Amino acid sequence: MKTNDASEGHNFIRDIVGADIQSGKISKIVTRFPPEPNGYLHIGHAKSICLNFGIASEYGGTCHLRFDDTNPTREAQEYIDSIKADVQWLGFDWGDNLYFASDYFEQLWQWANHLVQTGKAYVDDLSADEIREYRGTLTTPGTNSPYRDRTIEENTKLFRQMKDGQCDEGEHVLRAKIDMASGNINLRDPVIYRIMHSDHPRTGDTWHIYPTYDFAHGQSDSLENISHSICTLEFEDHRPLYEWFLKNLPVPSHPHQYEFARLALTYTVLSKRVLTRLVKENIVTGWDDPRMPTLAGLRRRGYPPNAIRDFAVRIGVSKRDSLVEVAMLEHCVRETLNQTAPRYLAVLHPLKLIIDNYPEGKMEELEALNNPNDASAGNRMLPFAREIFIEQEDFLEDPPRKFFRLAPGKEVRLRYAYLITCREIIKNSSGEITEIHCTYDPETKGGNAPDGRKVKGTLHWVAAEYAHHAEVRLFEHLFGDEEPSLTDNLMDAINPESQQILLDCILEPALAELEIGASVQFERLGYFCRDLDATKDADVWNRTISLRDSWAKASKTKKA
Ligand code: ATP
Ligand code: MG
Repeated sequence: MKTNDASEGHNFIRDIVGADIQSGKISKIVTRFPPEPNGYLHIGHAKSICLNFGIASEYGGTCHLRFDDTNPTREAQEYIDSIKADVQWLGFDWGDNLYFASDYFEQLWQWANHLVQTGKAYVDDLSADEIREYRGTLTTPGTNSPYRDRTIEENTKLFRQMKDGQCDEGEHVLRAKIDMASGNINLRDPVIYRIMHSDHPRTGDTWHIYPTYDFAHGQSDSLENISHSICTLEFEDHRPLYEWFLKNLPVPSHPHQYEFARLALTYTVLSKRVLTRLVKENIVTGWDDPRMPTLAGLRRRGYPPNAIRDFAVRIGVSKRDSLVEVAMLEHCVRETLNQTAPRYLAVLHPLKLIIDNYPEGKMEELEALNNPNDASAGNRMLPFAREIFIEQEDFLEDPPRKFFRLAPGKEVRLRYAYLITCREIIKNSSGEITEIHCTYDPETKGGNAPDGRKVKGTLHWVAAEYAHHAEVRLFEHLFGDEEPSLTDNLMDAINPESQQILLDCILEPALAELEIGASVQFERLGYFCRDLDATKDADVWNRTISLRDSWAKASKTKKA
């Protein structure tokens, strides 16, 4: 079943939410999407966005956009702006519910003090390395820090000094006092505040200490009355800590955390750390490079947002990690564009073709169909003349059997135009074909012979005199490895041919009029969209995706 509505997919989280509503345990569903503004959103985040916003809208609730901005050394306004734009582009609306963990810094500080006052937190002077050593391992218990039994008075005084900027970074941390022998390492006195003297994008130099993710997250959920705090599986082991804070603090509500498997895609890396590196080391042109799995990159590449939402439904939500074929995402993109993208003619590798018996200086306007899947898309006029361009690979001097395109003496159809027959080839001194000469049959306008003779091949073409010139960029996967994250050196897995730039492509003139971002099909070549770099004088198009659908084919053969 094809669906473009993120709320239609069924999954275990929806079941939990549905049951909570049914039993009356929860009356209003409130979810949140909590990105850290330390990079751009990627297709994995889209899975989480579709799930959180989808559930809220399905149950008449709300979904908050909350920036988890607790680490000022890595965060920036640019990322905040891009994240908002990407969530909106995907088609979701947080309404008035835009929040920042930094809005809660004062409250979080008071709650940390509450732990200090109740003997459940202490200031530690161990270094980060020592804390790691003392923590123990999965098989051995941890060891208490020598500072663990500081008095409440001493902790209060030191924590105050940390807050007031009187301490150096790394000099102290505040730790929750839980259990150094716990089977769950997250409960071995986790650090909840660290000293950082960096300026924060929103709070400037007000704070010298910042809460950790674990200390900020659940309490922020509680402040916002989140009913279902949905996150990825790596936080499963943090759930007892999430609950410990809620239990030991005077919080206004007790949300619950649920975990699902994060999206992993073949030929793709979805780690912000790696994506940041690709950008910083200029391996790609930026966060919105069309080869990036970021939403900004996919948008620039021409992926429609409803194709991404459709993909999110199809992959479902589970409790077990799995690898999804990127071909499935591409399949969703093709399906969407096939319905919506108007068709045009364009030639990527032009070869000049002259129709010797067509009158010089004559121009005919031929009627062309904009979208065979959408009658309301109407028609357009396509100029035809004596000199045209065809695709180089549509001509072979010495063709194999079953080559139904153009060859010496062979007849083919020009899309929307006439039947033509190849009469002569012109080559340059190095033996390359520079021109093809043909004749046309004036009785075949529209592409059919009145005598009913069969012509199999149909070629796309553009009239030379009316050609619109453009650069066209073709893309392959950025990583050549099916599972790039498994390679020893990720950078070795980069596909050196991930981008091919064709400088002089020939487009039909109507394409010159389209807006930046417009998505079209170039017949027989794929789906393309007009790139940001396009100017009035120098047009640029990206190939979103070719027409071939290997995923559908492969999954059919697998089933058979
Ligand atoms: P990193 O790449 O460093 O692991 P992150 O992608 O987890 O960072 P966050 O900003 O913390 O970055 O993510 C925001 C939300 O998106 C979190 O709730 C996280 O669980 C979810 N998320 C992140 N990556 C994926 C993914 N691949 N699939 C599904 N959800 C994801
Ligand atoms: Mg994260």
